[in-house]
Amino acid sequence: MSSTQTTEVGALIDGIASGRVEVVELTQPLSEATPVIKLPPPFANTPGLSREEISRYDDRGPAWAWYTLTIGEHVGTHLDAPIHWVTGKDGADVASIPITSLVGPACVVDKTAETEQDPGYLLTAADLEAWEAENGRMPDGAWVLFRTGWGVRAQDEAAFLNVGDSGPVTPGPDVEASRWLAQERRISGFGVETVGIDAGAAGGFDPPFPLHNLLLGAGRLGLTQLANLDRLPITGALIVVAPLRLVGGTGSPTRTLAFVPRG
Ligand code: MN
Repeated sequence: MSSTQTTEVGALIDGIASGRVEVVELTQPLSEATPVIKLPPPFANTPGLSREEISRYDDRGPAWAWYTLTIGEHVGTHLDAPIHWVTGKDGADVASIPITSLVGPACVVDKTAETEQDPGYLLTAADLEAWEAENGRMPDGAWVLFRTGWGVRAQDEAAFLNVGDSGPVTPGPDVEASRWLAQERRISGFGVETVGIDAGAAGGFDPPFPLHNLLLGAGRLGLTQLANLDRLPITGALIVVAPLRLVGGTGSPTRTLAFVPRG
């Protein structure tokens, strides 16, 4: 069945088989060691992952092993649904997000060098306009992926959360970039390598956590703790976001992958 496919899906199947299309893993491994966000008092915090044995090839189940998971919705590589934020409370839960929003073109905004210089780098609307001047308008249904190099810290909680004397120091969009992303284009969502879609300092912005406020309030989606963004082209990849279809869910751990053309 090589090179005889006549449909677009057939071409994709052929491409994967031949290596002209690479499937790239964008999901961080999920374990008891996966870092989770830590809010300051008086706010409640989420548990990370823990698991309890139901049986393990023993008297409780001689031929099988299985576990009960305890996990917050917002742990590891995960999706933020509109209802995660009060501004989006009348929007979609995870189960009712249109699946067309979960598949789309990836627009990679690379600020790795800037983040190396300043780990609290704030993405601006001017950065997004400059990206478009070089790469064209972000298409409807795009996933904007903020590449910062932060993913290499993902297995080291202290380095990943990067909490200093005045709070967490991690990159993210400023208020104007948040407004631009939520209102100026019809993107499906915004994905990051850090623990949350807003910058570490965003609790002190006006409004606080502007991307959560504006993007989820506009019915769009967030995606966090992504891996391997350095393996994506700036444009040309197709992203697939696969959360649990959790009824009433405000978010969900999410397998995420990309189809990337290679030569
Ligand atoms: Mn979240």
